[in-house]
Amino acid sequence: MTIDIASMSQLKPEAISEICSLAHDVFKTSGEIRDQQIKKLIQEVSLNMENDIFNDDFLASVAVFFNAAFMFVSSQKILRKSELYQFFRILNHLPILNYSRFYTQTIKILEQYFEKDPSSIKLFDGLQLMYLYSEIGFEKAAQELAEDLYAKVGSDQLCFYAMYELSKANIFGVHSDAESKIKLMLDLATRVWDEGGPEATLFLLTSWLFTLSWFKRSKYYKALLYNLYEKIRGEECLNTARVGYELFLLDDKQVSPAEKMHYYQDLIKFHESILNSRQLHSLHFFAGNYLSGFQDKFHDSIHSFKASNYFLHKCWERLIEISKYLRMHCDHKTYKLSMRYVERSFLQLSNQTSLRNSSYVENIQMNFEKIEDLYREVGELSLTDQLSGQRNRRFMDNNLMPILALAARHNTPVCFTILDIDEFKTINDKYGHTAGDYVLKELGEMLSKAFRHSDIIVRYGGDEFLIVLFDTNPQHCEEMMESFRKKIEKRIFRYQKKQMKITVSIGAYCENLLGNIQLKKLSEYIHMADIAMYDAKESGRNAVVIRK
Ligand code: GH3
Ligand code: MG
Repeated sequence: MTIDIASMSQLKPEAISEICSLAHDVFKTSGEIRDQQIKKLIQEVSLNMENDIFNDDFLASVAVFFNAAFMFVSSQKILRKSELYQFFRILNHLPILNYSRFYTQTIKILEQYFEKDPSSIKLFDGLQLMYLYSEIGFEKAAQELAEDLYAKVGSDQLCFYAMYELSKANIFGVHSDAESKIKLMLDLATRVWDEGGPEATLFLLTSWLFTLSWFKRSKYYKALLYNLYEKIRGEECLNTARVGYELFLLDDKQVSPAEKMHYYQDLIKFHESILNSRQLHSLHFFAGNYLSGFQDKFHDSIHSFKASNYFLHKCWERLIEISKYLRMHCDHKTYKLSMRYVERSFLQLSNQTSLRNSSYVENIQMNFEKIEDLYREVGELSLTDQLSGQRNRRFMDNNLMPILALAARHNTPVCFTILDIDEFKTINDKYGHTAGDYVLKELGEMLSKAFRHSDIIVRYGGDEFLIVLFDTNPQHCEEMMESFRKKIEKRIFRYQKKQMKITVSIGAYCENLLGNIQLKKLSEYIHMADIAMYDAKESGRNAVVIRK
C-alpha cells in the first residue's frame, strides 16, 4: 500500500505526469539530451517557486519528483553493490577512526584513490573534519573548511565530491539559490547513477532529501518516506535502515509512539554494522521507555534498557575519539574552540542519561511496589479460605502458636471454640451444593462481624469453624456464643428464590494460658472444645456448651 502523493496536492494532472516522466528520463538518457531533461525538470518543479519557496504547489512538485525518482531507481535490479555504494556506507559511520569497524575497508578504498592522487587521503581527512565540525555544531569552522576545501575537491573524484556536496547541504541547507542547488544535485545524482548504480543513487537522493529542512515540515515528507520504505523494506541494506530510521525520528504528531515501535522492531533486526551507535542508542532508548509503560512488557523494556546502555557507552567512546581526532587534525586555536562544542555534546549526553536513569528508577520502584503488593496478596490468599473468607488450616499451623505464646507471656485467658453446622448434609441434599456453599460464605461474613478483629477465626473443617477468643473469661464467652447461636437461628438465608434456615452447635474450652505453651497443649485445648461441641450435639443440637 502506497500513498498517492499527487492526490494530496492541487497540482494539475498534466504537470504531475510531466514531472514523473522527466524524473525517469533524467536517469534513462545521457549526454546533451539528459542535460535538457534536467533543465526541463527544474523548470517544471520551480514553476511555482517564485517568491515563496514554501508554497504548496512547489512542495508537491518536489514530492512528486522524489517519489517518481525513488520508485524508478529502486525498481532497477541490483547486480553488484558498487564501490561507490561501499564508500557511501562509510558515510553513515563517520568519523572513521582507527578503532572503527570500517577502518580497514576505508583504507582499502582510499588506497585506490591514493594511487591516482596521493593527496586524496588528506582530502578525506579534511572532509571528515568538516563533517565533525558540523556534527558538534561548530558551524563557523565547518564553513571555513568548506571554503578551503572547495578548490581541492575536484568533481572528477566522484565519492569525495558527493561527500563534500552532501556535507555542505547538511550544514547550510538549501535555502538560498535553490534552483542551482537542485541542478547541482540532479547532475550529481545522474553521475552517481551512471557510475555507482541504483543503490548508490538511492543513498544520494535520500541523503539529499534528509537535508531539506523546509521540505521536512510539509505533509509530503512522511508520505514520501513511507512509500519508499514500503518498496524497499524487505532488503536488509543501509538505504532501508536509513529511511526507516528517518520515519522513526519524525515527531509524535506525524508518527505515533506505537508506529515508532513498529519501525524499531523492523530496524533492530538489521545487522549491527548497518546502523551507527547514535542511531542504535536512540532506538533502544525509545523502546525501553515505551515498553516500560506496559506492565506485561517490563521484561522487554529491561532488555532494551541494557542495550541502550551499551550503545550509550559507545556514544561516549565516540565523542572521546572525536575529541582525539580534532586534537590531531586541527590547529591549537581551533581545537580549543572546538572543545567548547564537544563539551556541550558530552553534557547533552549526560543529561539524557541521567533523565533516562531517573525515569527508569521510578519505573522500577513502581514495579517493585506492585510486586510487593502482589506478594502480600498471594501471602494473604494462601492463608485464607476462598469460600468463607476466613483463615485456613495452613494459617493455623503457621501462625497460631506464636500468637498463643504471646498470650501466655501476658497470662491472658483464652477460649477455644468449635462451631459446627447442624445437619448440614440435609441443606446440601435439599437445596443443592451451591446453596450449601452460599450458606458457608454468609456464615463466614457473620462470624467476621460478630467477633473482634483480634480474635482468630479458622475454617477448621467442612462445616466447622475454630474461633479463638483472647482476653475472654468463660462467662463472657458463653454470652457471646449464645448470642451468636440465636442470631444464626433467626437468620433466613436466601439463595436463588430458596429460603434456608440453619442452627449451629458450639463447644468451648477456656484456659488461662501460662508460661511455655507447646504444640501438644494446643491440640489438647482444641480437642476439649471438640468434646464440648459434641456434648452440644448430644444435647439435641442448636446449643452452646462451655467446659472450664
Ligand atoms: P451434624 O449435625 O452431625 O454436624 O451433621 P452434618 O450433616 O453437618 O454432618 P457433618 O458435620 O459430619 O458433615 C459436614 C457436611 O458438610 C458434609 C458435607 O456434605 C458438607 N460440606 C463440607 N464442606 C462443604 C463445602 O465446602 N460446601 C458444601 N456445600 N458442603 C460442605
Ligand atoms: Mg455438621
